Amino acid sequence: MGAIIIDGKKIAQDIKDELKEKVAGLKEKGITATLAVVLVGEDPASQVYVRNKKKACEYVGINSLSYELAGDTSEEELLKLIDELNGRSDVDGILVQMPLPAQIDDKKVINAILPSKDVDGFHPENVGALVIGEKGFVSCTPAGVIQLIKRGVPGYEMAGKECVIVGRSNIVGKPMSLLMLRENATVTVAHSKTANLEEVCKRADILIAAVGRAGVITSDHVKDGAVVIDVGINRGSDGKLRGDVLFDDVKDRVRAITPVPGGVGPMTIAMLMNNCYEAALSRLGE
Ligand code: NDP
Repeated sequence: MGAIIIDGKKIAQDIKDELKEKVAGLKEKGITATLAVVLVGEDPASQVYVRNKKKACEYVGINSLSYELAGDTSEEELLKLIDELNGRSDVDGILVQMPLPAQIDDKKVINAILPSKDVDGFHPENVGALVIGEKGFVSCTPAGVIQLIKRGVPGYEMAGKECVIVGRSNIVGKPMSLLMLRENATVTVAHSKTANLEEVCKRADILIAAVGRAGVITSDHVKDGAVVIDVGINRGSDGKLRGDVLFDDVKDRVRAITPVPGGVGPMTIAMLMNNCYEAALSRLGE
């Protein structure tokens, strides 16, 4: 039997369609789920991300408020806006598109967002909640990976599996490791200082690559029958997007694999929409 090519586009679409109904249900109860999207400056990649997030909001029925600030906006001005949005009862989620211009400290901004409106799941309180297994917003990309496995590999049991995550960033690798622990996998986190990366990766039943280097994971890193999730997005000199995994080299020996593009990418926004819905739901006190 050939490998399952996990269709992230389809799974993300299914999630958005489910959310569309739930968001409409909230509307019937008088609640319009609302996300404030803040963009500072004119970074073209950030503009594309913000546009896609707003488009997803529109699709799902979430009201998006757009704040496009000049590139020379001061930290104080941005913090003032966040404070105002924190205080508005009609705003459920606040998203500040990263990266921010050099004059603004990312950390201060993340810390300023009320944890209950931090739909990106970056606030230390939400990260801490994930660590100790309490409820809170989870970073969207790793949350999307869990959904990809649950929905994309039917009947697959994560409990008891060896999971190796390559990458330990705060937005992908670290929260990914905690979510995999929550699923009762046995987790190893590898990084740039890991000795014998091939050997470590070869232990994995579930291998998650979040490195940011095209083709760093080859068939030498992959055990037969593994589930391979490729978070990496790398744009080559030819303009094409490639993952961290050498897809063609690996695909014939795995149980399931995500393509790039069309794998993890579409899931991030779908999970952001889910977090916005959850934030709005809390207005019901649920
Ligand atoms: P970071 O650059 O923050 O982290 C990369 C991690 O990879 C680091 O922990 C680093 O180790 C590790 N690493 C680097 N080189 C190697 C190597 N040769 N061997 C083993 N480990 C290595 O990146 P992010 O976590 O933010 O993103 C990772 C990738 O995922 C990127 O391609 C990014 O574009 C993509 N991404 C995709 C998203 C999506 O929606 N699909 C969302 C977010 C990110 P060390 O800590 O030691 O430096």
